[in-house]
Amino acid sequence: MITGKTKLLGVIGYPVEHSLSPVMHNAALTQLGLNYVYVPFPIEPQNLEVAILGFAAVGVVGFNVTIPHKQTILPLLSEISPTAKAVGAVNTVSRKDNKWIGTNTDIEGFLAPLQTMYNQDWSQTVALILGNGGAARAVVAGCAELGCEKIFVVGRNAQKLEEFQNSWGDSRESQNLQVHTWHSLPKLIPQAKLLVNTTPIGMYPHVEESPLSVEEMENLPAGAIAYDLIYTPNPTKFLRQAQQVGVIAIDGLEMLVQQGAAALKIWLQQDTVPVDVMRQALRHHLGLT
Ligand code: NAP
Repeated sequence: MITGKTKLLGVIGYPVEHSLSPVMHNAALTQLGLNYVYVPFPIEPQNLEVAILGFAAVGVVGFNVTIPHKQTILPLLSEISPTAKAVGAVNTVSRKDNKWIGTNTDIEGFLAPLQTMYNQDWSQTVALILGNGGAARAVVAGCAELGCEKIFVVGRNAQKLEEFQNSWGDSRESQNLQVHTWHSLPKLIPQAKLLVNTTPIGMYPHVEESPLSVEEMENLPAGAIAYDLIYTPNPTKFLRQAQQVGVIAIDGLEMLVQQGAAALKIWLQQDTVPVDVMRQALRHHLGLT
């Protein structure tokens, strides 16, 4: 029930109607019995600065950031975490000592299913990342944190790939990073123990599309992991192909849940949040249960 004491959380984006974050965060807040509400804020790019000032004025506790504000919000924040700096994007903002602090929980979200299910030494692992957009940046940072031997990023536009490579400067992430065009896939796939799709290919409504063919995926090494960041449909064609060729398949739902759980822990300043409730709320909302 909304009362005079209800505290405000939310997500900013434009458009924002399709965000699944309100579903999982409100389920968690209800489970915890906390007097908070999490709402979507559609904010047009030209209104970002005034919106952030308004949030401070009305005492918003924290908020998520989605497209198109993930980069443009950086200059409006007082502090930016090292992970968000490395990725060059913020997805979570919290209020501390009357200042806005930005961080990026996508890396933690991406890593969670890998670290929970496959707690292994990654130093011999070659990671192959399809796509060079915003999500690919969090995946590169995650693979660097795992200590992957090599990180190959494959894209369709040579100029964007060069910009992607250069954007990491001489950071830790840049050490083992190489960019390639799609033409190099035949030589890269047989090395890839971890294959991550960060392109939107196969996302609803294009459910019969996949970034790779089954024949290409057959060349993955034994025991490889195919990880699709897409969460609708579930599974994607890419993951069905992975199952067909006998490699491990991980979908994007857990990343979504875990990046949300990491953000909620920051806002509530507590070590645990009801992750199961968040996952279940999303699965139910997406018609998966
Ligand atoms: P983005 O910044 O637009 O990047 C998309 C990338 O895919 C770009 O590099 C783009 O290439 C490439 N691409 C798009 N269509 C392609 C095609 N037909 N052929 C080859 N490459 C293509 O998007 P994003 O924010 O990174 O998101 C990407 C996907 O990840 C989306 O499906 C999103 O839902 C998902 N995602 C999931 C989570 C999660 O929590 N599970 C989190 C973030 C994102 P160009 O650069 O050449 O245009």
